[in-house]
Amino acid sequence: MKKDSLSYEALLSEVDERLKNGCSKEREQQFYTKLKEAGFSRRDFLKWTSMITAALSLPPIFEPRVAKAVAAIAQRPTVIWLHFAECTGCTEAFLRTINPSIEQVIFDTINLAFHDTLMMASGKRAEEALESAIAKYKGSYILVVEGGIPTKDDGIYLRIGANAETGLHRLKRISKDAKYILNFGTCSSFGGVQAAYPNPTGAKGVHDILGCEVVNVSGCPPNAVNMIGTVVHILLFDRVPPLDLSYRPIWAYGGRIHDNCERRAHFDAGEFVQEWGDEGAKKGWCLYKMGCKGPLTYNNCPRYRFNQGTNWPVGAGHGCIGCSEPDFWDTMAPFEEPNDKAGIRIPAFGGVEATSDAIGELVTGITIGAVGVHAAGSIIRAKAQKKKEKEEKNNKNNQDTPDEKK
Ligand code: SF4
Ligand code: SF4
Repeated sequence: MKKDSLSYEALLSEVDERLKNGCSKEREQQFYTKLKEAGFSRRDFLKWTSMITAALSLPPIFEPRVAKAVAAIAQRPTVIWLHFAECTGCTEAFLRTINPSIEQVIFDTINLAFHDTLMMASGKRAEEALESAIAKYKGSYILVVEGGIPTKDDGIYLRIGANAETGLHRLKRISKDAKYILNFGTCSSFGGVQAAYPNPTGAKGVHDILGCEVVNVSGCPPNAVNMIGTVVHILLFDRVPPLDLSYRPIWAYGGRIHDNCERRAHFDAGEFVQEWGDEGAKKGWCLYKMGCKGPLTYNNCPRYRFNQGTNWPVGAGHGCIGCSEPDFWDTMAPFEEPNDKAGIRIPAFGGVEATSDAIGELVTGITIGAVGVHAAGSIIRAKAQKKKEKEEKNNKNNQDTPDEKK
């Protein structure tokens, strides 16, 4: 993968070159017409542009370039969006932002060639649409994957479409000709709830099956901002953003929930909710003792929130359950009790911020190489141990299943 240069000048001239050669006045007019029809002014769009530019960790000088890339690049990326084993919650979350959102307008303007949930066609017609999109955009399309992929018994636990193709076969076949693979949601990123113990269908995330580079926009559901920001990065630079060890874009998943949480001051002061609905809950105190996994979770939820920035889970009064982390259904449960592997020292009532340094040593990220990967050793060891235990349990369970096909 081509990495982003550290020099903004180099990035700027690269983007300027791309915009100089790749923009279309006609496309730009169409985009602004569509924006107006959806009830947004140019000023709204510029505010959104500056939010996305900041989210991507680019300086303000990129703002007009981001606007130009989104509105005017003539070669819109073609997206083929496939669903596998899942609840379709990721698509629902994407669509059910306040209607319509700027993200939706932008997603309408890319070339969305196939999307099981949104398209009108069904049955054979839908299959034909898919095959013709694959043939037409071979080697250049973005494959968006939603849902985990059952792999046990050659994937027979998920069959899709008029030809009853297995999900496993479908993924391998269609990913071959994709330029980029974006996994939208924790299921396609890491297997999700399907892969939770005892994982009867052998569900896995896309990277665990294909082994090639993917982008994991994880979350259950993920934030639309994280998806659209990744698409904007591809529009701007024609490559995916820098990724962490779990293949998540660092711009979105580079910071801990705990470090950006509005309740953090209460954690440092030792002010905790002790039971649902108590005085602490009413005062917005820290939810760690109610099971918040914010100290173990990397995501930008406190910053960008959900539903057009209205609120987010911790803001609404429930702890983070760690939904953007691999294997969170197993490693973060029980969800309403503190995680005994977190290595957190809880400040006593009236405690001070001094404890945050000790916590930082235990759970904040360490930087590995140029990508700035953020995995604390203690978390990795705890997860490796948990993963080993899970695999052993899965193996045992598979051996115990009487009707399993060998
Ligand atoms: S433990 Fe949870 S609620 Fe408390 S400060 Fe950290 S992220 Fe926020
Ligand atoms: S706060 Fe935690 S559980 Fe909730 S969406 Fe964000 S990462 Fe997922």
